[in-house]
Amino acid sequence: MNIHEFQAKDILRRVGVPVPPGRVAKTPDEAAAIARDFGGTVVVKAQVHAGGRGKAGGVKLAKTPEEAKSIAAKILGMQIKGLIVNQVLVTPAADIASEAYVGIIVDRAAKRPVFMVSRAGGIDIEEVAASTPEKILKLPVDTRYGLLSFEATQLGFFLFDDVKRVRSAGKIMQQLYTAFMQSGCSLAEINPLVTTPAGEIVALDAKMVIDDNELERHPELEALRDPTADAPSEVQARSANLTFIKLEGNVGCCVNGAGLAMATMDLVKYYGGEPANFLDIGGSSNPEKVVSALRIITSDPNVKAILFNIFGGITRTDDVANGIVTATKQNPLKVPIVIRLTGTNEEIAVRILKENGFSAMTDMDEAVQRAVELAKGGGGGGGAGGKAA
Ligand code: GDP
Ligand code: MN
Repeated sequence: MNIHEFQAKDILRRVGVPVPPGRVAKTPDEAAAIARDFGGTVVVKAQVHAGGRGKAGGVKLAKTPEEAKSIAAKILGMQIKGLIVNQVLVTPAADIASEAYVGIIVDRAAKRPVFMVSRAGGIDIEEVAASTPEKILKLPVDTRYGLLSFEATQLGFFLFDDVKRVRSAGKIMQQLYTAFMQSGCSLAEINPLVTTPAGEIVALDAKMVIDDNELERHPELEALRDPTADAPSEVQARSANLTFIKLEGNVGCCVNGAGLAMATMDLVKYYGGEPANFLDIGGSSNPEKVVSALRIITSDPNVKAILFNIFGGITRTDDVANGIVTATKQNPLKVPIVIRLTGTNEEIAVRILKENGFSAMTDMDEAVQRAVELAKGGGGGGGAGGKAA
């Protein structure tokens, strides 16, 4: 689960990280009032679950409350990476002498949280990692001991030469590590961690991703969820109990089982297509789940063909067939559909589909190739197109 910058900053503030004060506004007038309270120059910052807000025009300095108001009016409602800005953080502007990067991620290979720090802060860390990896220091942490003092100092020296700054930075690393562990994060980062001309070190931006599996034991973190901030299709999927991840391609995939879903996406790519999503309807699917799945897939305008790939074990393929029939009666399809199913109650499923004008395939390779072809606009012929082909 992603949380907003202002929420991540609240968490960091609680563990002692120096973070500038700030308040959230939902209207330009609120932004002006907050700017007036702080006095002086403020920064107005779009609160969306996306990085690179600065580049997209979502982070702007305002010298007066009037300017804060007009900037907030521009930023509120703006779209950044497809997400609409509903609120802005208004925070006193800091003077920046240098910008560093500090982050922790869970590294699957190391099976540990790994610190990444760099003097090349402020900008996209992926870019730094790709072009100048020597500018990044990585340090895995043994969770039995936490970040030890000498390790914190080592990280600090990678960022600063001055010993006083090294010490402050080291303390911030330990605080960030505490926040990361306490909140069950898969990622926590401060970018930029700045020094001011007066020599202070301050976290100007913060990002945290909470591991979804931690939410059950952290109701206070679940409460930070902002349903208006995620892609609408992902919100719908969550409430329908489907595992769904939106991707950029045009072949809408509906599969049962995470392994088969991954294999299906691999095969789509292998045959030159691009999956529009990962969607696992789960082991024991009922027709309603299929109806929700189809609604979510077809609401994506990029989807040019739909591919069902169902291996019936516990899942009854006739349930899936009934779901497809119900869903398409409610909402006739505008794009072709390819259905591959095999396993439990296959004969019944095929009969249901036939009676309703669909056809079904049993071979996964053929079905995927057909779906990729249809998504590219190759039509006609073939037995798999079904009604809408
Ligand atoms: P991001 O683009 O989404 O990562 O948003 P950031 O909060 O990191 O802001 C982007 C950039 O805006 C930072 O790297 C800074 O250069 C600049 N910026 C943000 N806050 C301040 C501030 O208080 N003062 C100044 N001078 N610049 C700021
Ligand atoms: Mn940033």
